[in-house]
Amino acid sequence: MAIIRVALDVPIDSLFDYIAPDATPPDVGSFVRVPFGKKFMIGIIMTISDDAHVPHDKLKQAEDILRNIPPIPPTLIELFEFCSRYYHYPIGMVIMNGVPTRLRSIKPLPQRSITPFLFRLTETGHAIALSSIPGRNKTKHHLLAHLKEVGNITSKEAKQLSPRAPKLLQEFLVQGWIEKILMEPEFTLNAPPILQLTTEQITAINAIQAEIGLFNTWLLHGITGSGKTEVYLQVTSMLLKQKRQILILVPEINLTPQLEAIFRSRFPATRLISLHSKLNPTERINGWLQAQRGEASIVLGTRLTIFTPLPRLGLIIVDEEHDHSFKQQDGLRYSARDVAIFRAKQANIPILLGSATPSLESYYNAITGRYRWIHLRTRAVKNATLPVIRYVNTRSVQLKEGLSEPLLVALEKTLTQKQQSMVFINRRGYAPVLLCKSCTWLATCSRCSSRLVVHLTQKNLRCHYCGHTEQLPQACPQCGDQDLMPFGHGTQRIEAALAKFFPHARILRVDRDNTRRKEAWQFILSAIHEQQVDILVGTQLLAKGHDFPNLSLVGVLNADTSLYSIDFRAEERLFAQLIQVAGRAGRAETAGEVLIQTEFPDHPLYNALKHHNYDAYAQILLKEREITHFPPYTYQALLNAEAPQIATALNFLTMAIALIEPTEQIEIFDPVPAQMARLKGLERAHLLVQSCSRKKLQLFLSDWYIKLSKIPHRKVRWTLDVDPLEF
Ligand code: ADP
Ligand code: ZN
Ligand code: ZN
Repeated sequence: MAIIRVALDVPIDSLFDYIAPDATPPDVGSFVRVPFGKKFMIGIIMTISDDAHVPHDKLKQAEDILRNIPPIPPTLIELFEFCSRYYHYPIGMVIMNGVPTRLRSIKPLPQRSITPFLFRLTETGHAIALSSIPGRNKTKHHLLAHLKEVGNITSKEAKQLSPRAPKLLQEFLVQGWIEKILMEPEFTLNAPPILQLTTEQITAINAIQAEIGLFNTWLLHGITGSGKTEVYLQVTSMLLKQKRQILILVPEINLTPQLEAIFRSRFPATRLISLHSKLNPTERINGWLQAQRGEASIVLGTRLTIFTPLPRLGLIIVDEEHDHSFKQQDGLRYSARDVAIFRAKQANIPILLGSATPSLESYYNAITGRYRWIHLRTRAVKNATLPVIRYVNTRSVQLKEGLSEPLLVALEKTLTQKQQSMVFINRRGYAPVLLCKSCTWLATCSRCSSRLVVHLTQKNLRCHYCGHTEQLPQACPQCGDQDLMPFGHGTQRIEAALAKFFPHARILRVDRDNTRRKEAWQFILSAIHEQQVDILVGTQLLAKGHDFPNLSLVGVLNADTSLYSIDFRAEERLFAQLIQVAGRAGRAETAGEVLIQTEFPDHPLYNALKHHNYDAYAQILLKEREITHFPPYTYQALLNAEAPQIATALNFLTMAIALIEPTEQIEIFDPVPAQMARLKGLERAHLLVQSCSRKKLQLFLSDWYIKLSKIPHRKVRWTLDVDPLEF
């Protein structure tokens, strides 16, 4: 019997040898059930060989190979191996992070899918004339007539039509008149007319088309509203004609319905699946299998989707490529954008990174010629212009409940003109601080170094880092005084203030608190599109990528907080965020206006923003990064350590430094407490290493990682974060 080497979901960076369960030669990539310790686990066969790394008498036999699950294809295995090497994370855990949970459990796969299906008329079905069906076949006639009229039917509807209809559906399926697809989401768009492309869009599309069969990283750098989506659609259409699959990554689950609807309405005959964290395990596995079998041609989803098997992959699109949500912040700390670039290279296909505010890393690669750079500099809609940006200096004006007079006036005017406004404040909850007026006590989280946020609607205090909640205290726990005061503003408080100032306005708040449910976004988006809302109040959730044609005023509150942050990426992020927020205004014919309340209207960031000049500000930031030796001029890795006591964590990091032999071109910083020095009851510290050579850094990390794994560290949890975004 052959020896199989298996990757398992355990924090040990090696494969495990077993004797194959039977004489049938297994495939690499197959799922296998093996005994591990006292239990059984599901693993993946990585190699098959004749000899083991373990003495034969110690070898155990694998239980069985799950032959009803298709093996992971070799190219995907390669992608997992790349991630394991690059992020220095055990291969078994990399794979198990990437495959649907349902495949990881030892429960057998469902025989029959419980996800509702839709039967959709195919082109063959369309071509069948109703008159060709003999009159005595009443049900068949009925069913086809229904399909021709509506385009599709569910099995439930079919049953209602006639008890015989479900059986006929099977017949139609066999004949190829209909196809079986997963139920589509409720949010749909009427097919928009195909637009006449702008000159810039044509140039972009032609450039990509000329090299469509080759690996290239294209930075589609287009100002907000420049019509990047249309470029995606056109390039997608080229590849669909070549029968290739298209993978589209979006940073936020909330962006999927809109993009999904746009792609569905443009390619109604193409099977599209959308994969994200709100799917149930069965939906997810169904999507995965459809992609793997090549049945779904367009696969759209959040970061995890990058690990979907796609045998005919021809194009990857990463929308809003600058967004930090592409980076996973725990477990396998991968950047889906970066992994996507690797995958495109591996498959020798183009990848499109789209953004109005590219990350400085991508921008740098574009200006130095590593990426192909396409610039869209004008808005696509005729006569739509970028909004006018004005600043309200909050040092010289009085605020009424966080709102300045000029903003209130502008809101009033927009209301009268029956257009929509948006007030952006990047803090959810009612107030970020609860303060005792007599002794200056502040409500803080007992498990984190953070303040508790006041949530008045639910009458509680919440930690936004660990999720801890507690009752709103009646009196100060320190001095007993009852004069506790919510300090500062969050979305709920602004919502309440706006309701007071504009009692007749229809106000809708959008933040993580009221968008948790799957249906919430569909409701919000249609309410906005159907003009059932006058004023939107929201966090950055609202700022990203959405297209709201009737929005003409954007107010921004409390943006300054990240201006003088110690995080070297804070300004880049704020700039991107403000360009994005401002970009929501005036996207159609209505001219837009943006009012920003700030204490520092003369800051270079606000100056560049006023002129919508991403490039100018990017140049300033790049200069700073070059001088200070920060990315993109260097490559970084962060060794994080967590322990009940900060001393233990720091001690571990000191031991980690002691393992390092002086290495050329590797810079080691001192261990320091993390920005969030305490999180979920653990104290945190980290150690930064960097190099101007990615290769050198990788070589160093590989060696260091092995040594780190050998440090006895009972009380410390450590992780390595390659290309970290958070410190
Ligand atoms: P972004 O570049 O910000 O992603 P979108 O792709 O959302 O921009 O496009 C912004 C708006 O411009 C959309 O309403 C879209 O329908 C419209 N649009 C795109 N291309 C054209 C075009 N060629 N002519 C007219 N309108 C267009
Ligand atoms: Zn007090
Ligand atoms: Zn907390």
